[in-house]
Amino acid sequence: MKEKISHKGLDHEELLLFEIGGLNKSGVDFPETQGYEQRIGSSYEDKEIGIPGLSEPEAVRHYVRLSRKNYSIDAGMYPLGSCTMKHNPRLNEKLARLKGFSDIHPLQPVSTCQGALELIHEISLWLKELTGMSAIAMSPKAGAQGELCGMMAIKQALKSKGQESRKKVLVPDSAHGTNPATAAFLGFEVITIKSTVAGRLDLKDFKSKIDKKFAAAMITNPNTCGLFEKDIIKISEIIHQNGGYLYCDGANFNALVGKIKPGDMGIDAMHINLHKTFSTPHGGGGPGSGPVVFSDKLASFCPAPKIEKIGNKFEIFENENNENLLESFGRLSAFHGQMGMYVRALSYMLSHGADGLRQVSEDAVLSANYIKSSLEDVMSSAYEGYCMHEVLFNDDFLKDTDVETLDFAKALIDKGYHPMTIYFPLIVHGALLVEPTETESKFSIDQFILTMKDLVNKTQSDSDSFKSAPKFTPVRRLDETKAAREPILRWKKETIIAAE
Ligand SMILES: *Cc1c(COP(=O)(O)O)cnc(C)c1O
Repeated sequence: MKEKISHKGLDHEELLLFEIGGLNKSGVDFPETQGYEQRIGSSYEDKEIGIPGLSEPEAVRHYVRLSRKNYSIDAGMYPLGSCTMKHNPRLNEKLARLKGFSDIHPLQPVSTCQGALELIHEISLWLKELTGMSAIAMSPKAGAQGELCGMMAIKQALKSKGQESRKKVLVPDSAHGTNPATAAFLGFEVITIKSTVAGRLDLKDFKSKIDKKFAAAMITNPNTCGLFEKDIIKISEIIHQNGGYLYCDGANFNALVGKIKPGDMGIDAMHINLHKTFSTPHGGGGPGSGPVVFSDKLASFCPAPKIEKIGNKFEIFENENNENLLESFGRLSAFHGQMGMYVRALSYMLSHGADGLRQVSEDAVLSANYIKSSLEDVMSSAYEGYCMHEVLFNDDFLKDTDVETLDFAKALIDKGYHPMTIYFPLIVHGALLVEPTETESKFSIDQFILTMKDLVNKTQSDSDSFKSAPKFTPVRRLDETKAAREPILRWKKETIIAAE
């Protein structure tokens, strides 16, 4: 090895496995197989496969060191707006590890996994009750795939009525990028709707864009500005009078859960991010899960599989020829969805109960408004009045400094916080979107507020320092665009540093 690796404090710089491992090293020694005849003919190989070996302590250190670089909700506040980074209760983890849930296979006979099917059925009932909707597709793997699922059902419904000429999907300019991407992916034409100066959908613009080709609108409520779309009933009436469907992006359900039912707002389909509202880990910590609920009108178009209770038994309907699935758009994905996430989410629901879930949304909204009113004097709120579960600032408070939103967010890292969401939604200049969630204590929120105030002061007294932040991280300013556009996902042998 040529260069000395630089460590910081007790945190170690870590090379790639390929760089520290060696082809002749191994953590385990298997004896040569004896008297075994291979039966795979010309596919048989006994050459090196080029995977580096490590001794056991080297392997353990490698992964422990990497894990220490991973900021998480277990390490500190994670005020990433729109993402609902709340505490993941350990009870959920314990239940998800029960053998009857964790050691099953999607192809095993249904008679041998009745408990798991009952659990999927039970969580379906809770989600339908909480949303006031009549059908559900459990299989989508995240919010974005849930959007795809909901819009595929809408497409199928239009097809069944011979209305394939309805091609236009209306999406507010504040929407999450997955909304227009989903509509475009399915061959719809995306029409953007303006927002008002109050941060809500512009009803006049909305009405003016509805014509004979109108298929659906995709609306987020509360929207990505953290505001409730007060006209939602009127919006849904207009949509239905004009023969369209209302898809709701339910990523912000944490602000509503237990308080109001989306079904009462005239919504036809909505995804629920279990990994946001129902506390299943995400953001590097676990897979997502995005079940979609449907109104009566769309219920029959929802995808396979369906889990139903017949007498005392649970059955899976998965064949499209099944009489329960004749209008279904088919299958969205292999198997039944993210079992581990269902267990965690149901554990969360049952441990909170109906009253506890209502408390969740009330506390989430209270936390965000506490931050809003505490910082309003020193920062600049994007919109007046109360917010829902997240608070949106613009960059007016940085106007006479050299500091930009990105610099401000980077400086927060040096203070021990994952940055808030920045530059989203796009309609607010230099947006900073803060979502504390209900699981932060008042002490922790107060500390965050003090830190934010300190930073705002510093933008006046020492604005230069922001350009070089973060100072204390293992890597500092990254070219994030380049990393996203030209990711290096494959290790090449030439780059090896420490060969055997
Ligand atoms: C998180 C989010 C999504 C996408 O959900 P994923 O589970 O990340 O795919 C869509 N819309 C909004 C508003 C979101 O916050």
